[in-house]
Amino acid sequence: MEDKITRLFGKDVFNDKVMSERLPAEIYESLKRTIEMGRSLDLTVANAVAEVMKDWAVENGATHYTHWFQPMTGITAEKHDSFVQPLDNGTAMTKFSGKELIKGESDASSFPSGGLRATFEARGYTAWDPTSYAFIKDNVLCIPTAFCSFGGEALDKKTPLLRSMEVVGKQALRILRLFGDEETKRVIPTVGAEQEYFLIRREDYLKRRDLIYTGRTLFGAKPPKGQQLNDHYFGSIKPRVKAFMDDLDEELWRLGVCAKTEHNEAAPAQHELAPLFNTCNIACDHNQLTMDMMKRVASRHGLVCLLHEKPFKGVNGSGKHDNWSLSTDRGQNLFDPGSTPSENAQFLVFLAAVIAAVDDYQDLLRISVATAGNDHRLGAAEAPPAVVSIFLGEELTAVLEAIEKGDIYHEETKSVMKLGVHVLPKFPKDTSDRNRTSPFAFTGNKFEFRMPGSALSIASPNIMLNTAVAEELSLFADELEKAEDFESALNALIRRVITEHKRIIYSGNGYTEEWLKEAAERGLSNYPTVADALPHMCDEKNIKLFENHRLYTEKVAHSRCEIMTENYVTVISIEGNTMIEMIRQEILPAVIEYTEVLARTKLTKEQQNISAKLEATLLGKLCPTSDALWDAAEELEDALAKLKAESDVTKGAEMCRDLVIPAMNKARDYADGLETLVGKKYWPYPTYGDLLFGVN
Ligand code: ADP
Ligand code: MG
Repeated sequence: MEDKITRLFGKDVFNDKVMSERLPAEIYESLKRTIEMGRSLDLTVANAVAEVMKDWAVENGATHYTHWFQPMTGITAEKHDSFVQPLDNGTAMTKFSGKELIKGESDASSFPSGGLRATFEARGYTAWDPTSYAFIKDNVLCIPTAFCSFGGEALDKKTPLLRSMEVVGKQALRILRLFGDEETKRVIPTVGAEQEYFLIRREDYLKRRDLIYTGRTLFGAKPPKGQQLNDHYFGSIKPRVKAFMDDLDEELWRLGVCAKTEHNEAAPAQHELAPLFNTCNIACDHNQLTMDMMKRVASRHGLVCLLHEKPFKGVNGSGKHDNWSLSTDRGQNLFDPGSTPSENAQFLVFLAAVIAAVDDYQDLLRISVATAGNDHRLGAAEAPPAVVSIFLGEELTAVLEAIEKGDIYHEETKSVMKLGVHVLPKFPKDTSDRNRTSPFAFTGNKFEFRMPGSALSIASPNIMLNTAVAEELSLFADELEKAEDFESALNALIRRVITEHKRIIYSGNGYTEEWLKEAAERGLSNYPTVADALPHMCDEKNIKLFENHRLYTEKVAHSRCEIMTENYVTVISIEGNTMIEMIRQEILPAVIEYTEVLARTKLTKEQQNISAKLEATLLGKLCPTSDALWDAAEELEDALAKLKAESDVTKGAEMCRDLVIPAMNKARDYADGLETLVGKKYWPYPTYGDLLFGVN
């Protein structure tokens, strides 16, 4: 009997199995070659594929198709076109051509382009990414697509991601050739993105304008119980949440997303989903789909899924661990230390490239995760700090130290193996010894980048990581290809890289103040906010990197930076304005209502000669705090007006950091103080207690 997973898995995906069954053999072979070698698709093949794809989609209930793409907003965009083709006799048929499959035109003037595409020439075009399977969602055939301007500039996140995969693959192959590997044809980055999220009741969500407008709570006093007892993590999953997770797994399996583990996270109402890793661009598409599905399935269950990095102050935020490695087309993981000296040496070269990349481009890694939401998380003693460092584990750190000092691990093998390493120890994949406070940790056979926030598209960090590693590998290959004696050149290179970049290696607790001090002494960069980080995106060395690997031209890099900065300013403005609205329309009216009752009671009591000490005391606290809240809202309004008047986005971002956010924090403190004093039935929105413990 067929089990449920086998029956459901990939049911809505135009995958290799469907293609091999339905496409004529020569078309299938040609498409495979295109996919494997990254060639472009010719129109005859595209026409044949389109026809078969449409028939399959229509049989499976699809009526429309869309070029599913990932604009710079970080979410995915769709414009649905139907397959309908009217006939002269008043009937209609379905039609879908190869041209429609490989290239679509999109009037996308409302997608941010950072000035790259003037609105009068608003059209961009979308091009099918045949390495990511098409799928059906809500009766729409979705075709994973890259989005470019007519000038060929990338307007999305997929295009640079594909480019970065190509360049890191190309440079890695050069290194493999140096080790005598003539068989590997391709090297591909692999990624597994663990996704954290919160689930709350829909009825509570609808009562909170802050959640509706901004995805996070802008107010909320600390509840008596938070995560102190640690009773949620891996605790038993509540029936309603379990039903959600089961449903989500099924939806994802149908879409070919290999959702593997679902469990509770540290904070109450927080959960995590981990998929099985996949090729970098597919992992990225799948993560976008996962986020989309989480929201849809939650709403079916009367819940809302919060993907914001910090929905609740004082409660752990949500991240998205980006597990990253490089794999060959023959299935060899290049970060698996291996069992022979030669495999070990090869492993060390790749490891050295990552160490150098993370050190040289620490700023770009930080920038790749820079969003307004993530600023609340990084460095808040629940997520890595804003300082980038690498954790390698005790054994590997010791091995590198030995290499640096020139110590020979096994004297007798000196002549065979000059790297100072005889056979590397197998690194145990034991979770207990992992350093969870490190932003970038080696976890046995892959790296785990822990800085990305939960709402982020993982395209951004992977673009930077792939490209930075490509750059280091290309420098290594240049050096080694020229060497007369490969082994001694290799030895010298690895030693030099360790010596030059060891400042980025840190095994201690990344959450402490001491580390921040030490990091500063080591010369590591520390950009606590978006406003601090983004101006470095276009530093000379970074532009050189982008141009070297044809990732972005300088113009495109500037435009991307501008989009991100603008996004930060917009998010903060929306938050500020939402706060003012809630203060004036909800919080203060509630306080007034409550104080009126208190004042009346006080008067009645006094007329009857009864002590009104309670009412007097409460009024004595409420009145000055609510006056202060009113003033704080005025101050925030002033700050926002100044921000609005500022036309330079970089200055705007600084104003957010220095003026608007402090004003927001001040207003919040008064409001949260009032919440603890005002009767619950007067309070206009659900409290943290309601939100965090409401789902049963
Ligand atoms: P945990 O970190 O929770 O102990 P694992 O180490 O098994 O769990 O895996 C975490 C994530 O890393 C999963 O999404 C997994 O698929 C992914 N992963 C495992 N191996 C690789 C790899 N070679 N490349 C990329 N991701 C990987
Ligand atoms: Mg993890």
